[in-house]
Amino acid sequence: MVKAKIAVNGYGTIGKRVADAVRAQEDMEVIGISKTKPNYEAAVANQLGYDIYAPAENIEAFEKAGIPLAGTIQEMIGKADLVVDGTPGGIGGKNKPLYEKAGVKAIWQGGESHQLAGFSFNAVSNYDKALGRDFVRVVSCNTTGLCRVISPIDKELGINKVRITIARRAVDPNDIKKGPVNAIVLHPVTLPSHHGPDVKSVLPNINITSAALIVPTTLMHLHTVNMEVNTDCTAEDIKKIFGSQSRIRFVGQGITSTAEIIEVARDIGRPRNDMWENCIWPESITVNEKELYFFQAIHQESIVVPENVDAIRAMMELESEGAKSIEKTNKAIGL
Ligand code: NAD
Repeated sequence: MVKAKIAVNGYGTIGKRVADAVRAQEDMEVIGISKTKPNYEAAVANQLGYDIYAPAENIEAFEKAGIPLAGTIQEMIGKADLVVDGTPGGIGGKNKPLYEKAGVKAIWQGGESHQLAGFSFNAVSNYDKALGRDFVRVVSCNTTGLCRVISPIDKELGINKVRITIARRAVDPNDIKKGPVNAIVLHPVTLPSHHGPDVKSVLPNINITSAALIVPTTLMHLHTVNMEVNTDCTAEDIKKIFGSQSRIRFVGQGITSTAEIIEVARDIGRPRNDMWENCIWPESITVNEKELYFFQAIHQESIVVPENVDAIRAMMELESEGAKSIEKTNKAIGL
């Protein structure tokens, strides 16, 4: 089988995980990753056997550090069928002319605007609409987590409105610059937060608003979800709908925190303690007169990783059915 050639431009929290997930698939391969500086992550990427590409002006620095390079970032882009841009929010957009010039497809992450790609992706919500597209944005961790629960409930019961409160992790665990602050920060003070409106970039017909607070933790986000549905239902009906979704995991057996969920990820041997699924507490699922409440935790570092793989498969037309792509992705990464 000829494999789709994937380059990962921006090898940080998301980029390194996407590279490993792409590598695990049968129908795509990583032809290179980019690093701007010859730091420890570049050394590890080299150890993992990735071909590393760097900006032309930094080649000497890599030579001095003894980290072998395969070429410049432009050269990497020239060899790829599709680039997954994992650069920090706001930087990825500046790379668009590079991708257009090289005639390669590109995926951006949730830190970029919907307008940049013109299409925002979530595998269970709109896989079929991504087929053959040149540019796609995989929505952020919080938006992905919301789309994964809203889509199946809307399909089965119809949704009148959704209201969300998000406790956001302050920074990722590897961040030594910003660190968690000793406070609860309104993010932002004005409502809604950007998350609810961002869900509409994938599911335009959903009536949704959100509020978000930054809390001093690095592990996961936590959502309090409130939905008003159009059809009479019970908590058991909701559990059945969520239970049918491969990227939703029920957490229980005494787990009352995000720390314990990450411990589960460690115990089951997940790479980098990643929890790719939405983690929902089934005991929290409560229905009262068509109003549904529950808690879910979202692992910000990894939840978008399988979605990137599915977006590649749709854009490269390697699989026409979303459900089959999801199955292939899950199986290959061990989800
Ligand atoms: P990160 O800072 O961990 O990684 C970004 C990487 O890109 C770094 O290695 C950096 O050196 C590199 N980089 C910077 N400028 C570059 C350039 N011009 N060319 C090539 N590489 C460059 O960032 P991240 O957390 O992985 O976020 C990447 C994107 O994913 C953002 O859009 C972000 O909003 C989104 N996202 C992040 C998370 C999260 O929680 N970390 C979750 C979902 C989506």
